[in-house]
Amino acid sequence: MSANLPHSGREAEFTMPIGLTDDEGRVHKTVVIRKMTGKEEAILADRRNHRNGGKLVSELISSCIVRVGELPKNGSATVERMYSADRNFLLLKLRTLTFGPELQATYTCGSCGESVQVTEDLDTLPVKQLEEGESPDEIVVDLVDGYVDKDGQVHTALTLRLPRGDDETAVAPQMRQNASLGKNALLARCMKSLGDLPRHRLEALGPKILADLTMTDRRLIDRALNQGAPGVDLVREVVCGSCGGSFRATLDMTNFLALA
Ligand SMILES: [Zn+2]
Repeated sequence: MSANLPHSGREAEFTMPIGLTDDEGRVHKTVVIRKMTGKEEAILADRRNHRNGGKLVSELISSCIVRVGELPKNGSATVERMYSADRNFLLLKLRTLTFGPELQATYTCGSCGESVQVTEDLDTLPVKQLEEGESPDEIVVDLVDGYVDKDGQVHTALTLRLPRGDDETAVAPQMRQNASLGKNALLARCMKSLGDLPRHRLEALGPKILADLTMTDRRLIDRALNQGAPGVDLVREVVCGSCGGSFRATLDMTNFLALA
């Protein structure tokens, strides 16, 4: 398939970390995207799109997708169904394809507070593919403290699915107001089961469960969804030029398209 691509470099084929599953259960992981054009510049510049980051990403990616596997082109609905890991991967590739892999990043040193400028090479960021037999919809976390229901019963076995584009779009308003509350809303959408809590209780309680969990448990959930999960690893080891210390920081992708 890639042999048919034009040589100009306007288009490129990539393999997504997770992929899209069609109605027949087939997984489509290859995606052909093209460089961003003036059309996408207009999408990025449109202030209305800035109210909802999830929607902006969907518009941008769907505008640049040439095809996904053997799926019919289906606009932003397809991109909304994609896992956030795949969407972030595609955003990164769009940036690299259009403006090259070099990105000026600024981090703040955790020890001395100085800002550290680093030229990142986006092509060298590690990408973890979903492993054979692994499911993006069955992330199991054994909570330490668990959720205590109104009868005093403790629930510790949590099953989540990885977040998708439609989750990002749905929680974007909360995320803008308060990142922590936004995260509760996002995780609540991704909760599939918690101990013996009946489904309707789980749905009714939603974000309240996440708000009640200890920070110990919340960190366990973070780890399960970020560290072990498929996708681009945005965690960087940064060395501070001022104090010589090294620290871990996450590469900020929020503005990296607009800044180019
Ligand atoms: Zn420092």
